[in-house]
Amino acid sequence: MRSVAQKLIAVREKLVQAARRSRRNPDEITLVAVSKTHPAGQVQEAVDIGQQVFGESYLQEALKKASMLPSYLNWHLIGHLQTNKIRRALGLFSLIHSVHSLALARNIDKIAREKNVLPCLLLEVNVSGETSKFGFTPAALEACMEELLALQCIQINGLMTVAPYAQDPEDSRSFFAQLRECRDRLARQTGTPLGALSMGMSSDYQVAVEEGATLIRVGSSIFGKRHTR
Ligand SMILES: *Cc1c(COP(=O)(O)O)cnc(C)c1O
Repeated sequence: MRSVAQKLIAVREKLVQAARRSRRNPDEITLVAVSKTHPAGQVQEAVDIGQQVFGESYLQEALKKASMLPSYLNWHLIGHLQTNKIRRALGLFSLIHSVHSLALARNIDKIAREKNVLPCLLLEVNVSGETSKFGFTPAALEACMEELLALQCIQINGLMTVAPYAQDPEDSRSFFAQLRECRDRLARQTGTPLGALSMGMSSDYQVAVEEGATLIRVGSSIFGKRHTR
């Protein structure tokens, strides 16, 4: 069995190769190592070879893990955020990838105002239209983008999507392209760059890089199969 360090190095190499293929600078792409369900000891193995950005889906688990690891790490929330957990989430996460509604964005803005902080957020877009998925439809997002951008105490850095599960990574390509096109349209309409695109997971991150991802969220290819919670 390969170690976490060996697997992480392999993912980094594939990221760089995918960036080169699409004539992109690999330094523009952040590898978010998704450590949900994996213990702090395994996260430390990644830290030991320089990984500093980790993705978690559950606040409680992330808080506990973060308390056992160096304080300079960057924690990103990639899972569903409940309203009653916003305050504590703002204390830990440097980026929230999964803002899926105007109501949630408003609630984050309200709490950020009270705490006098300016959290960085991504808006989750459901490009596939799967009913099981969270996120704005592209049309719904266009309709409320001005309202989102008017919220003063949040910083909207870009968009995030989760592609439908597929055996063949090529099946994800059109969803990633649609997220990029959605971003380009919104950026034109609002004059806001929305530079961040969070897309691609273990099965399809190379395709995501080719389609313009600036953040890829890779779990099982680094840490192995997830433990059940
Ligand atoms: C768990 C998770 C990932 C990582 O998935 P892998 O297939 O293990 O790489 C990425 N994004 C989100 C939103 C997740 O919940």
